[in-house]
Amino acid sequence: MNASVSKLLKGQTGDWEIVIGMEVHAQVLSKSKLFSGASTEFGAEPNSQVSFVDAGFPGMLPVINEKCVEQAVRTGLGLKAKINLRSLFDRKNYFYPDLPQGYQISQYKDPIVGEGEVTIDLKDGSSIPVRIERLHLEQDAGKSLHDQHPDSSYVDLNRSGIALMEIVTKPDMRSSEEAAAFLKKLRAIVRYLGTCDGNMDEGSMRADVNVSVCRVGGYEEFRRTGSFKTLGTRCEIKNVNSMRFIAQAVEYEARRQVEVIEGGGVIKQETRLFDARQGETRSMRSKEEAHDYRYFPDPDLLPLELDAAWVAGIEKSLPELPDEKKSRLIKAGLSAYDASVLVAERESADYFEAMVAAGADAKAAANWLNNEYFGRLNKAGLAIAEGPVSAPANAQIVMMVTDGTISGKIAKDVLDIEWNEKTGAPRQQIVEARGMKQVTDTSAIDAAIEAVIAANPDKVEEVKAKPKLSAWFVGQVMKATGGKANPAAVNAALKRRLALPDEG
Ligand code: ADP
Ligand code: MG
Repeated sequence: MNASVSKLLKGQTGDWEIVIGMEVHAQVLSKSKLFSGASTEFGAEPNSQVSFVDAGFPGMLPVINEKCVEQAVRTGLGLKAKINLRSLFDRKNYFYPDLPQGYQISQYKDPIVGEGEVTIDLKDGSSIPVRIERLHLEQDAGKSLHDQHPDSSYVDLNRSGIALMEIVTKPDMRSSEEAAAFLKKLRAIVRYLGTCDGNMDEGSMRADVNVSVCRVGGYEEFRRTGSFKTLGTRCEIKNVNSMRFIAQAVEYEARRQVEVIEGGGVIKQETRLFDARQGETRSMRSKEEAHDYRYFPDPDLLPLELDAAWVAGIEKSLPELPDEKKSRLIKAGLSAYDASVLVAERESADYFEAMVAAGADAKAAANWLNNEYFGRLNKAGLAIAEGPVSAPANAQIVMMVTDGTISGKIAKDVLDIEWNEKTGAPRQQIVEARGMKQVTDTSAIDAAIEAVIAANPDKVEEVKAKPKLSAWFVGQVMKATGGKANPAAVNAALKRRLALPDEG
């Protein structure tokens, strides 16, 4: 078994384990809605993208959007899941002002995608699997607006009928870190696949987080027997929309449950919401108040039957996904850490690949991006696409370091010039015109060494006694040459001049 080890929670009566399962709603990337031709564009004037189907007018018939089905299948394949060639659409009946049909069309017993798996990456460098239970297609509801008028509420149906994928995990996450890592990885996968934009601020991805606590060993017993009896009662935290909030909500909720149980109380299964401002979860409704949705197959829709060859065609067109890209980059010589940082976002992976395609060495390009360029973008609050330096330009800088034209230190200065001055001139020309070329000429380096020695005779004795201190000399010589000396050449020349041993 591959279950991870829970981060234990210390209580007054002993240790507790945390168990987490998630239901993620991911909006399907598609121009039109699941059962109508209305547009899905974000941010439009309220009620400007509503067809008669979306508004629940009597007699209107839903027509399935093939693109949405294809996106769900693509996602299922990306989750290494079983694609069900036959699935059903059901009506989930409930009343809500933003649900004009009086029911949501969803998939209940027979979803389009069955069991799969997502590998999540943790800070300590380890990776663990999280099992996916299912993925089904369903319609989104509209949105009630309570802040537009002092004594009326309005409803915006633009979102009504937009296709959502609900992705349900098994209760396989064991800490706030794992829960956040799961959502991060899922987001990366759907963005690589192009099936959801993963834009959490716009609500394109939101998670219901189920949390329970149990005594140490309870989870392992659950994995061994498959019985939920050894797990605690769960509470579901609705619609959490950022990685940070997920981690905070889990921490708060697990601690709350331990305190309730240790105080002699019992956990009631209920739906809670996370208040980001207070950093706490609050009860919304208990399971007893839960609706009976009266699911039944939608008589307006035929069972969804997929052609195996069509599914195979989609499978063939899948892009390289983060895990595969990561192993390929590791094989190309990158460290596991550098590889995971690069593949975490499709944009950073693409940028890196563009640098390599332009001729940069893979390892050098990864170091440059992770240590220099992405840090600068972060500091400036810029997305990769908004950065001022192109991938080929960064590649040229890195290549000049690799072939010895400039030192690593000067490379940063060249980047500064690119970044600030945007001359548009070729990098080689900048380096040439500004005299930034690396000095490997030994006579120039020797001259600089003599000057530093003459100015610091006392240091010479110190270094001879303690060869480790030679770094100070290297630094001085680098300074004297304006950072242009080749550090390896300086080191070698110093050792010769001061007759230092090879070690140290
Ligand atoms: P429901 O049908 O009531 O929504 P599900 O069986 O679909 O319940 O489970 C919903 C989610 O809750 C799943 O992600 C599942 O992994 C998770 N879950 C179930 N039991 C527990 C538990 N004891 N602790 C934490 N999460 C749980
Ligand atoms: Mg459920």
